[in-house]
Amino acid sequence: MKRPLILVLGGIDEEFYNILKSHALIKESTLERLAEEIENADILVVRSNVKVTRELLDKAVKLRLIARAGSGLDNIDVCYATQKGIKVVNAPEAPVESVAELTIGLIISLARRIPLLDQRVKTGGWREDWMVGIELKGKTLGIIGLGRIGSRVASIAKMLGMQVIAYDPYIPKTKAEQIGVELVEKLDELLKLSDFISIHVPLTDETRLMIRAREFSLMKKGAYLINTSRGAVVDEKALLEALTSGQLKGAALDVLTEEPPINNPLLKLDNVLITPHIGGFTLEAQRKIAATIAEEILSFMRENHLIS
Ligand code: NAD
Repeated sequence: MKRPLILVLGGIDEEFYNILKSHALIKESTLERLAEEIENADILVVRSNVKVTRELLDKAVKLRLIARAGSGLDNIDVCYATQKGIKVVNAPEAPVESVAELTIGLIISLARRIPLLDQRVKTGGWREDWMVGIELKGKTLGIIGLGRIGSRVASIAKMLGMQVIAYDPYIPKTKAEQIGVELVEKLDELLKLSDFISIHVPLTDETRLMIRAREFSLMKKGAYLINTSRGAVVDEKALLEALTSGQLKGAALDVLTEEPPINNPLLKLDNVLITPHIGGFTLEAQRKIAATIAEEILSFMRENHLIS
């Protein structure tokens, strides 16, 4: 029996190879070679930087499975893949702890301006009056999207003494109550009440540009925004305006509309903290992602008789 071909784009933890190397041929591809190499692939493994479009899928004549190494399927045309009988799997649980911990790190970094003050000290500066920070205890954190990551952020924030409210029209009130979070019915309510607003929704037609000029104008003056979900959920022009006008005191972004950013004016602001989409980029999360998708691929190959 011919071994199935798995095409992999982007680095993946060695755990993936340990699980699959004796069952399949694993070939590393690149963005440049993908359109050509996909023709022979049975299985495709991608991260968030690869767009799996209708055009690409039309070239994938043998493809049976797409595994997204991570969570969030917004880079894959899942609808078209399903129509073509291609299954799509991902590893949504694996990065939860890492993204939640990064989010909390970003909240603390904003409250105390840690990166900016670090830079000042390294360029000869020392404590000045404007460097005064704020405590998180007693402040209100508004979470948009109380799913896996949002819930974990809520639990940690509560341990820090924050009041946590959330907007998520798709979950029952009881789920929020179980973790001591008050669910608000309208996004506007959350925007008006929160000192820190953290976004944890998937990117969908409904959430694209969910936070625009109108939403910024409803926020408390001097609030902070944290986005570790997807860049396109926020209108970056409106964010720039809110940050320069002082409506927002600061923002922390792990995700941008264009990644890596090219001439993005947000990069020039002192009150913006940007990390290079590293929410799930920890040793632990990467190992969990690799093991989860490798196991998914193995079961798929067995169930579909691609291996004996
Ligand atoms: P999840 O599906 O568990 O939770 C998302 C929540 O958002 C759900 O409870 C859903 O009901 C809610 N939601 C959907 N539409 C909404 C809307 N219009 N308004 C309010 N709430 C809405 O997903 P998750 O595992 O918590 O991940 C959230 C997102 O984080 C992912 O979709 C992905 O885009 C992003 N993510 C980023 C990184 C990173 O490296 N920065 C890593 C992993 C995930």
